[in-house]
Amino acid sequence: MHRSLLESLTVQRESPEYLQISMAAAMTLGLVPGQFYRNTKLSCINTLLTYPSGCHATCAYCGLQKAREVEYSKKNFIRVEWPTVALDEIIDRAEKVGHVERLCIAQITHPRAIRDTKEVLERVLRRLGDKIFVSLLINATGTTYQDILDYKKLGADTVTVAIDCATPEIFERLRGKPMNSPHKWETFWKVLEWACDVMGDGYAGCHLVVGLGETEQEMIETIQKVRDLGARTHLFSFWPEEGSMMEKEKPCPAPQYRRVQFARYLIDNQIARYEDMKFNENGQVIDFGIDKDTFEELFWSGRPFMTSGCRGKTTEVACNRPFGDSSPTDIRSYPFKPEKRDLERIRKQLFDYEMTTNYPDILNPSVFRYQ
Ligand code: SF4
Repeated sequence: MHRSLLESLTVQRESPEYLQISMAAAMTLGLVPGQFYRNTKLSCINTLLTYPSGCHATCAYCGLQKAREVEYSKKNFIRVEWPTVALDEIIDRAEKVGHVERLCIAQITHPRAIRDTKEVLERVLRRLGDKIFVSLLINATGTTYQDILDYKKLGADTVTVAIDCATPEIFERLRGKPMNSPHKWETFWKVLEWACDVMGDGYAGCHLVVGLGETEQEMIETIQKVRDLGARTHLFSFWPEEGSMMEKEKPCPAPQYRRVQFARYLIDNQIARYEDMKFNENGQVIDFGIDKDTFEELFWSGRPFMTSGCRGKTTEVACNRPFGDSSPTDIRSYPFKPEKRDLERIRKQLFDYEMTTNYPDILNPSVFRYQ
């Protein structure tokens, strides 16, 4: 993309009049040129509240954390820059794109985030309520039960909480006191429980990131806990964001992600439970708790390896976040149904317990955008 266009789209403005949107959403809305690899289509417009003082938290793995010395609107999040666009323009454009089925409003940690989420939600649904669903990706810190009741009353379809870490120790280390960050494990689970309670079974979600230091067993146990509460897991493969405190860490190994992806699919669709699965001494899944025929059928369907996220009006997953957690050279969450050649590669990864193979990957392309 031309540098001057990128500069003009990343001028710092303020919510609720302006929102940041993912680069994929900007392409879908025709704001930036480009086509997705293998003609992937995005049916969800992912937006993010934005303020000059940025996010007031400091999660170690996040590209938006306050410690980064870059103008806030130019920071990157889930691998790419997020252009800043007027809310009215987003609504106008979304109305014209035939295949948009959902819009997601993601909060950051900021004193105005909850109030502004309600205003944006109201304005989007006033214009597009008969066409699309709206999800909220909320920050648990500062959220009350009444806020979730308000979100539901205003028309939110799904409320999702980004717990991200599988264990309390990892959560504390990467998002809590040692990071000078305000988040607490207990608060996030309490708010997820409230979301399940208010929104109902299937209308609450939990974002979890694989590869932050947990074992497969720990992550899968947490996915089961989320499902038992009535929520579904939206899974991400850890990618070291440029400028985050973890930028020098390695991405989540593909084999680890494949096994957790498969297990998540079984748990969320109630095909098997965590207790049915078996793990080796390294906490890696060695038995998914299903018979061979079921395994083969599900494996070759490719569905377990597709992005997990909120559904659309006509699609199982509207929020497919194209290449949000990997490069197109080694896709982790497939935004489309993987083909036979993809599945052959996935199979090798799924049964790789040594994890010494260096699956091809390229450097995070966003590293070079502002040089
Ligand atoms: S999965 Fe749902 S909550 Fe998460 S980013 Fe996508 S639309 Fe938002």
